[in-house]
Amino acid sequence: MTKLRAIRGMNDILPEETPYWQSLEGTVRDLLHSYGYGEIRLPIVEYTELFKRSIGEVTDIVEKEMYTFADRNDESLTLRPEGTAGCVRAVIQQGLLSTPQRLWYSGPMFRYERPQKGRQRQFHQVGVEAFGIASPDIDAELILLSARLWRLLGISDAVTLELNSIGSPAARAAYRAALVEYLEARREQLDEDSQRRLDSNPLRILDSKNADTQALLDDAPSLANYLDEESQADFARLCALLDAAGQSYRVNPRLVRGLDYYNKTVFEWVTDRLGAQGTVCAGGRYDGLVEQLGGKATPGIGFAMGLERLVLLLSETGAAVPLAQDADLYVVSVGAAAELEAVARTEALRDILPERRIVLNAGGGSFKSQMKKADKSGARLALIWGEDEVSQGTCAVKSLRGEGGQQSVAVQDLPEYLRAALV
Ligand code: ATP
Ligand code: MG
Repeated sequence: MTKLRAIRGMNDILPEETPYWQSLEGTVRDLLHSYGYGEIRLPIVEYTELFKRSIGEVTDIVEKEMYTFADRNDESLTLRPEGTAGCVRAVIQQGLLSTPQRLWYSGPMFRYERPQKGRQRQFHQVGVEAFGIASPDIDAELILLSARLWRLLGISDAVTLELNSIGSPAARAAYRAALVEYLEARREQLDEDSQRRLDSNPLRILDSKNADTQALLDDAPSLANYLDEESQADFARLCALLDAAGQSYRVNPRLVRGLDYYNKTVFEWVTDRLGAQGTVCAGGRYDGLVEQLGGKATPGIGFAMGLERLVLLLSETGAAVPLAQDADLYVVSVGAAAELEAVARTEALRDILPERRIVLNAGGGSFKSQMKKADKSGARLALIWGEDEVSQGTCAVKSLRGEGGQQSVAVQDLPEYLRAALV
C-alpha cells in the first residue's frame, strides 16, 4: 500500500515548534487588543468570484496560485489565498461600515506556489484591517503597531520598513502608460517574466528580481513623478508622522504590491535573514475595494504578516524564549489501589495548581518503566503511589533533577510541599 502523505507544501507543525507559534500568536493578540482592534473570524472558503473581483484577474494569485474547485452544486469555490477580500465581503454583508472599524484575523491561507523555505502552499497570516478612515494617521498607526510587535518579539534589529505611495488609480494609469511606452521600446532587454507582465501587469516589473531588468528601470519614468496631489500630500504627512514617532523607514520608489486593489500607501517589512523570502509583513491602502465589491464607498487600509516567516525569524535570531515543554510533575502508581489514589489525588492537585503541567502515567507498566517515562517527560518531580503510600496516607516525592532525593509527604501536605518545591 502506498504511504499516505500530507500534500506538498502543507506542513505539520509539531509540538516542538508550536511554542514559538503560541508565543507569537499570544503577543499579537494582546498587542492588537491594546490598540483597540477586534478579532473577526472568517470562512476559509469563499466564492471564487470574490477573489477575482478583488485581487484582480491578471495577478499571479488569481492566474496561477488559487485552489479552485466546484462543489457538489457546481458552484466555483476557492480556498482563500489571502484575508482582505473575505474581510471586506464580511463587513459589507454584516453592515459594519456605518462607523470606522479596526479589525484583525488569523488563519491559514492557500496558494499553489513552489514550496521552499518560507514559502508554503498552506501558510498562515495575521491580517489587520481598518475601515472608514481616509487620513494617513491610520496608516501611521498600522505601521507603528507592527513596529511595536517586532520590538515585543525581539526581532526589530532583523527587519526594516520600506514605504511607497502608488497614488490614485488615475495617476497609476498615467504612469502605467509611460512605463509601458519606455519598456516597449526595450522589450528585447527584459527577462521573460517581465515581457509577459508588460502585457498583463506592467507595474509588477518594478519588483522584478532580475538584475538586468532592474538596471533597465534606472532610467525609466518614476512613479513618484506621476502622483496626484492628494497622494503626495498624504504620503508627506505619513512620513512626518513616522518621523515624529521616531520610526525609521526607507522610501522605495519601486515598491508595488502584487494585488490590484492597493492605492496610495504601500509598505513592506523586510529582512535579509531568510534568503529570497524576505518579506515578513506587507500591506497598504485599498480605498476603492469596498465599493468595488458592492459596498458604499469606504476607505480601507491593512496589512498581513506571514507567520511561518516570523517563526523562522524568531527561531533563527533566538529572540523569543519558547514556553517550556517540560512537565512539572509526573505521577506514578503501582497496583490497582494505588492507581485509584493517584488519579483522585492528581485531580485534586490540578484544582490547586492549575498552572502546573502534571502528567499522569497512563497505560500501567512496572515501577521501573514508569520512572523511565517520568524522566523522559522532563518533569522535575515524580509523585509515586504504591501499596505502602496508600495505607499510610502519604506520597513519595522523588526529585528527578540534580541530587535525586526522595521524601515521604502526607497527602494533605502535598499542595503546600509542591508549591514550595516548584518555585
Ligand atoms: P511574496 O512576494 O513573498 O510572494 P506576496 O506579496 O505574495 O509575498 P502577500 O500577499 O502580501 O505576499 O502576503 C503577505 C505576507 O504573507 C507576505 O509578506 C509573506 O510574509 C506571507 N506569505 C505570502 N505568501 C506566502 C507563502 N506562500 N508562504 C508563506 N508565507 C507567505
Ligand atoms: Mg506571492
